[in-house]
Amino acid sequence: MAEHRYDPHEIEPRWQELWASEHTWEVSNRSGAGEEEGGLSGLPRSDADERESYVLEMLPYPSGEPHIGHLKTYSVGDAIAHFHRRLGRRVLHPMGYDSFGLPAENHAIKTGVHPRVSIAESIDSFRRQFHSWGISIDWSRELATSDPSYYRWTQWIFLELFRAGLAYRKEAAVKWCPKDQTVLANEQVDADGRCERCGSIVEVRQLEQWFLRITDYAERLLNDLDGIDWPEHVKTMQRNWIGRSEGAEVTFRCEDLGIDYPVFTTRPDTLFGATFFVMAPEHPDVLRLTQGTGQEQAVHEYVNRALNETNEERGNADRPKTGVALGRTVRNPVNGEQIPMYVADYVLMEYGTGAIMAVPAHDERDHAFATAFGLPIRRVIEGPPSEGEDGEQAATGEQGLPYAGEGRIVNSHPDFDGMDSREARTAIVAWLDREGNGHASVNYRLRDWLVSRQRYWGCPIPILYCERCGIVPVPEDQLPVELPDIEDYTPKGRSPLAAAEEWVNTSCPACDGPARRETDTMDTFVDSSWYFLRYCDAGNEEAAWDPAALREWMPVDQYIGGVEHAILHLMYARFFTKALADLGQLDFQEPFQALFTQGMVTRDGAKMSKSRGNVVSPAAIVERVGADTARCYILFVGPPDQDADWSEEGVEGVHRFLARLWRLAAETAERPGGSGGPLTQPPAVEGDEELLRKTHWAIDKVTGDLRRFAFNTAIAAVMELLNEASRLRDSASVEALRFALASAASLLFPFAPHVSADVYERLAGERVWEQPWPEADERLLERDVYELVCQVNGKVRDRVQASADASPDALKELCRAAPNVRTHLDGREVVKEVVVPGKLVNLVVR
Ligand SMILES: [Zn+2]
Ligand SMILES: [Zn+2]
Repeated sequence: MAEHRYDPHEIEPRWQELWASEHTWEVSNRSGAGEEEGGLSGLPRSDADERESYVLEMLPYPSGEPHIGHLKTYSVGDAIAHFHRRLGRRVLHPMGYDSFGLPAENHAIKTGVHPRVSIAESIDSFRRQFHSWGISIDWSRELATSDPSYYRWTQWIFLELFRAGLAYRKEAAVKWCPKDQTVLANEQVDADGRCERCGSIVEVRQLEQWFLRITDYAERLLNDLDGIDWPEHVKTMQRNWIGRSEGAEVTFRCEDLGIDYPVFTTRPDTLFGATFFVMAPEHPDVLRLTQGTGQEQAVHEYVNRALNETNEERGNADRPKTGVALGRTVRNPVNGEQIPMYVADYVLMEYGTGAIMAVPAHDERDHAFATAFGLPIRRVIEGPPSEGEDGEQAATGEQGLPYAGEGRIVNSHPDFDGMDSREARTAIVAWLDREGNGHASVNYRLRDWLVSRQRYWGCPIPILYCERCGIVPVPEDQLPVELPDIEDYTPKGRSPLAAAEEWVNTSCPACDGPARRETDTMDTFVDSSWYFLRYCDAGNEEAAWDPAALREWMPVDQYIGGVEHAILHLMYARFFTKALADLGQLDFQEPFQALFTQGMVTRDGAKMSKSRGNVVSPAAIVERVGADTARCYILFVGPPDQDADWSEEGVEGVHRFLARLWRLAAETAERPGGSGGPLTQPPAVEGDEELLRKTHWAIDKVTGDLRRFAFNTAIAAVMELLNEASRLRDSASVEALRFALASAASLLFPFAPHVSADVYERLAGERVWEQPWPEADERLLERDVYELVCQVNGKVRDRVQASADASPDALKELCRAAPNVRTHLDGREVVKEVVVPGKLVNLVVR
């Protein structure tokens, strides 16, 4: 019986080689993009007689070898890709690598190995493993973002944005990682104010930087979330990140210096309660304001100290408030009062304008500051009297402050006193507007995207600086600006590229005079903000894409990736798509129509990490039990959107299941009538009905589960089907057994493609991936649910839907709960229950 031993190491390479040699998973573009000029470009989508489907997992960062999280992501994506193919769709399922970035550069600093070399090694390893996992990838579209043939178009997009005014340069206080020696985006600083990559405490520096104007898109990025099929928690994270709030911008004037300071407030109804004014330590005017006031030294020291604190420390409401007076005042536009100015670290530059009007009676942090500094606290809103207190006093005196709720306006202005605070907001803003002191305004937490990085291993920014012409974009026909080879990658507070003198010094394309190249490179999130577009037309050397190719495939029908990308990558990709649409480069607004976020794989309840020593390497597990077991297990272990804990027993269980399926199929195939010939449903002869019913139940269940990503229960259903086939192997006909087992393989194919292909071929002599997805026979399903007759004292009182596998107890409950049965029970005692499963329940009452 040696030949009936399930051997994944024989089965898996055999199928992988076939798929590779036949290019099974490659799809061409209908438009024939780049082949015929004019040609089929512009083919309307309705002309397609089949539907296209674009299934995409987030591209991996190639560092070392793939880890278990990759195995899960690509197992999920592959299951969906196979399912869509067998539903008759043309599926685009490509692969590429996010190959610029810090890990490769840091590796280079440590070892001296050029990032290009280490990246290439890692990509080889990823490619080999994806192949050994049997992932159905269209390799003809493979790309790497660090390849000049790719980043040429990243640079082109940058220049498009630059020309449209969406890329601009400005000096800004930036977050700086002292260890990595680079600027970080706000998003790359964690809640503790530490560098997301290395954990160092982040500092603040003033540098001239490139920004992308994502804030212009805040409203659309917010509103368009409504039209896409994404998990609600991801949409919520995006909404919170955009952070829209409505209020007013009000101008406070520093009359000494003649400077206007606008502030954003969501509570213009409290303007009359503003008793001081606070600026963030990063505010560019803070030091200037103190000149000649005698406060210079104190303010300077305070600012330096504050900039080294984390945003979390600074934002902590419980912390004692600190600050220093600037020695200046501003005029409150609503009452003309001169109120003192302070610098204090509880005000953050990222919010609003970096300055606030402080209303200590109605804001907790302003109240704490006023108390610490002995500043006046003026109530301007009277809340409803609270219980158990002398209402009038509580609402009007110092008690109960700060009060952040709504109420009646007091101590403000005869025009507004007595108004409800909500009404007063509108009235006060209208008045400010008339007087030229402010206007209604919407504020976003979203900031423009800082894309400059002082690092080597990134996409060069295609900009020149000419002494005469200033900022000059590199002409399109000179792209790509290739990254030069350098010797020394060590960060020195400026880009290592600055040391490549021959590369840096060039001539200006406009005036031919001397010019210098931009030495910063782009944030790697720029590279991954458009890669899904390039896959549609990856070989195009004339353009980033042919619009017809995008029309054919975009938007991505199903995007799959980790929830850790819920904010940055997804926001940036949406921004690029909208900006490119505005520039006429594409004609859709959202890149990813549906999103699935998979959970983590943990071990013993903890995240896998080298330091914990609990890492499961996909290569080792595939080597030991085969790719089918590994893939099937990782989808079986729990709902794939949840975190799941790795268990060796679970792996063994799945392995035994696949081995049993394969063995039973091999044995059946050897029986007369057990193999050959396309699979058709055998007639339901006596003795076969049970197995056929189970088969159709499984078809129905797996189909439904696949549509809702319940891969774990789908695989469990195939296990159940196999159990039934095993149990009935001697009583059922060989035709029915063949049908059941081949159907099991057909249903299992998206999860365990090699063994499924093998089993199906043995039994049906055909390629399972070329077969349409099986359809459940409704006639064989209908007994799954039946009409249960509900009787009381032998009289039919109601009929309810009951499931075929419901237990007698469940049937009794169903009967008792039926509306018309309940009215006939009406408090009477049930003395006897008669259950005839599949038919009726009779309740005997007294
Ligand atoms: Zn760092
Ligand atoms: Zn010039």
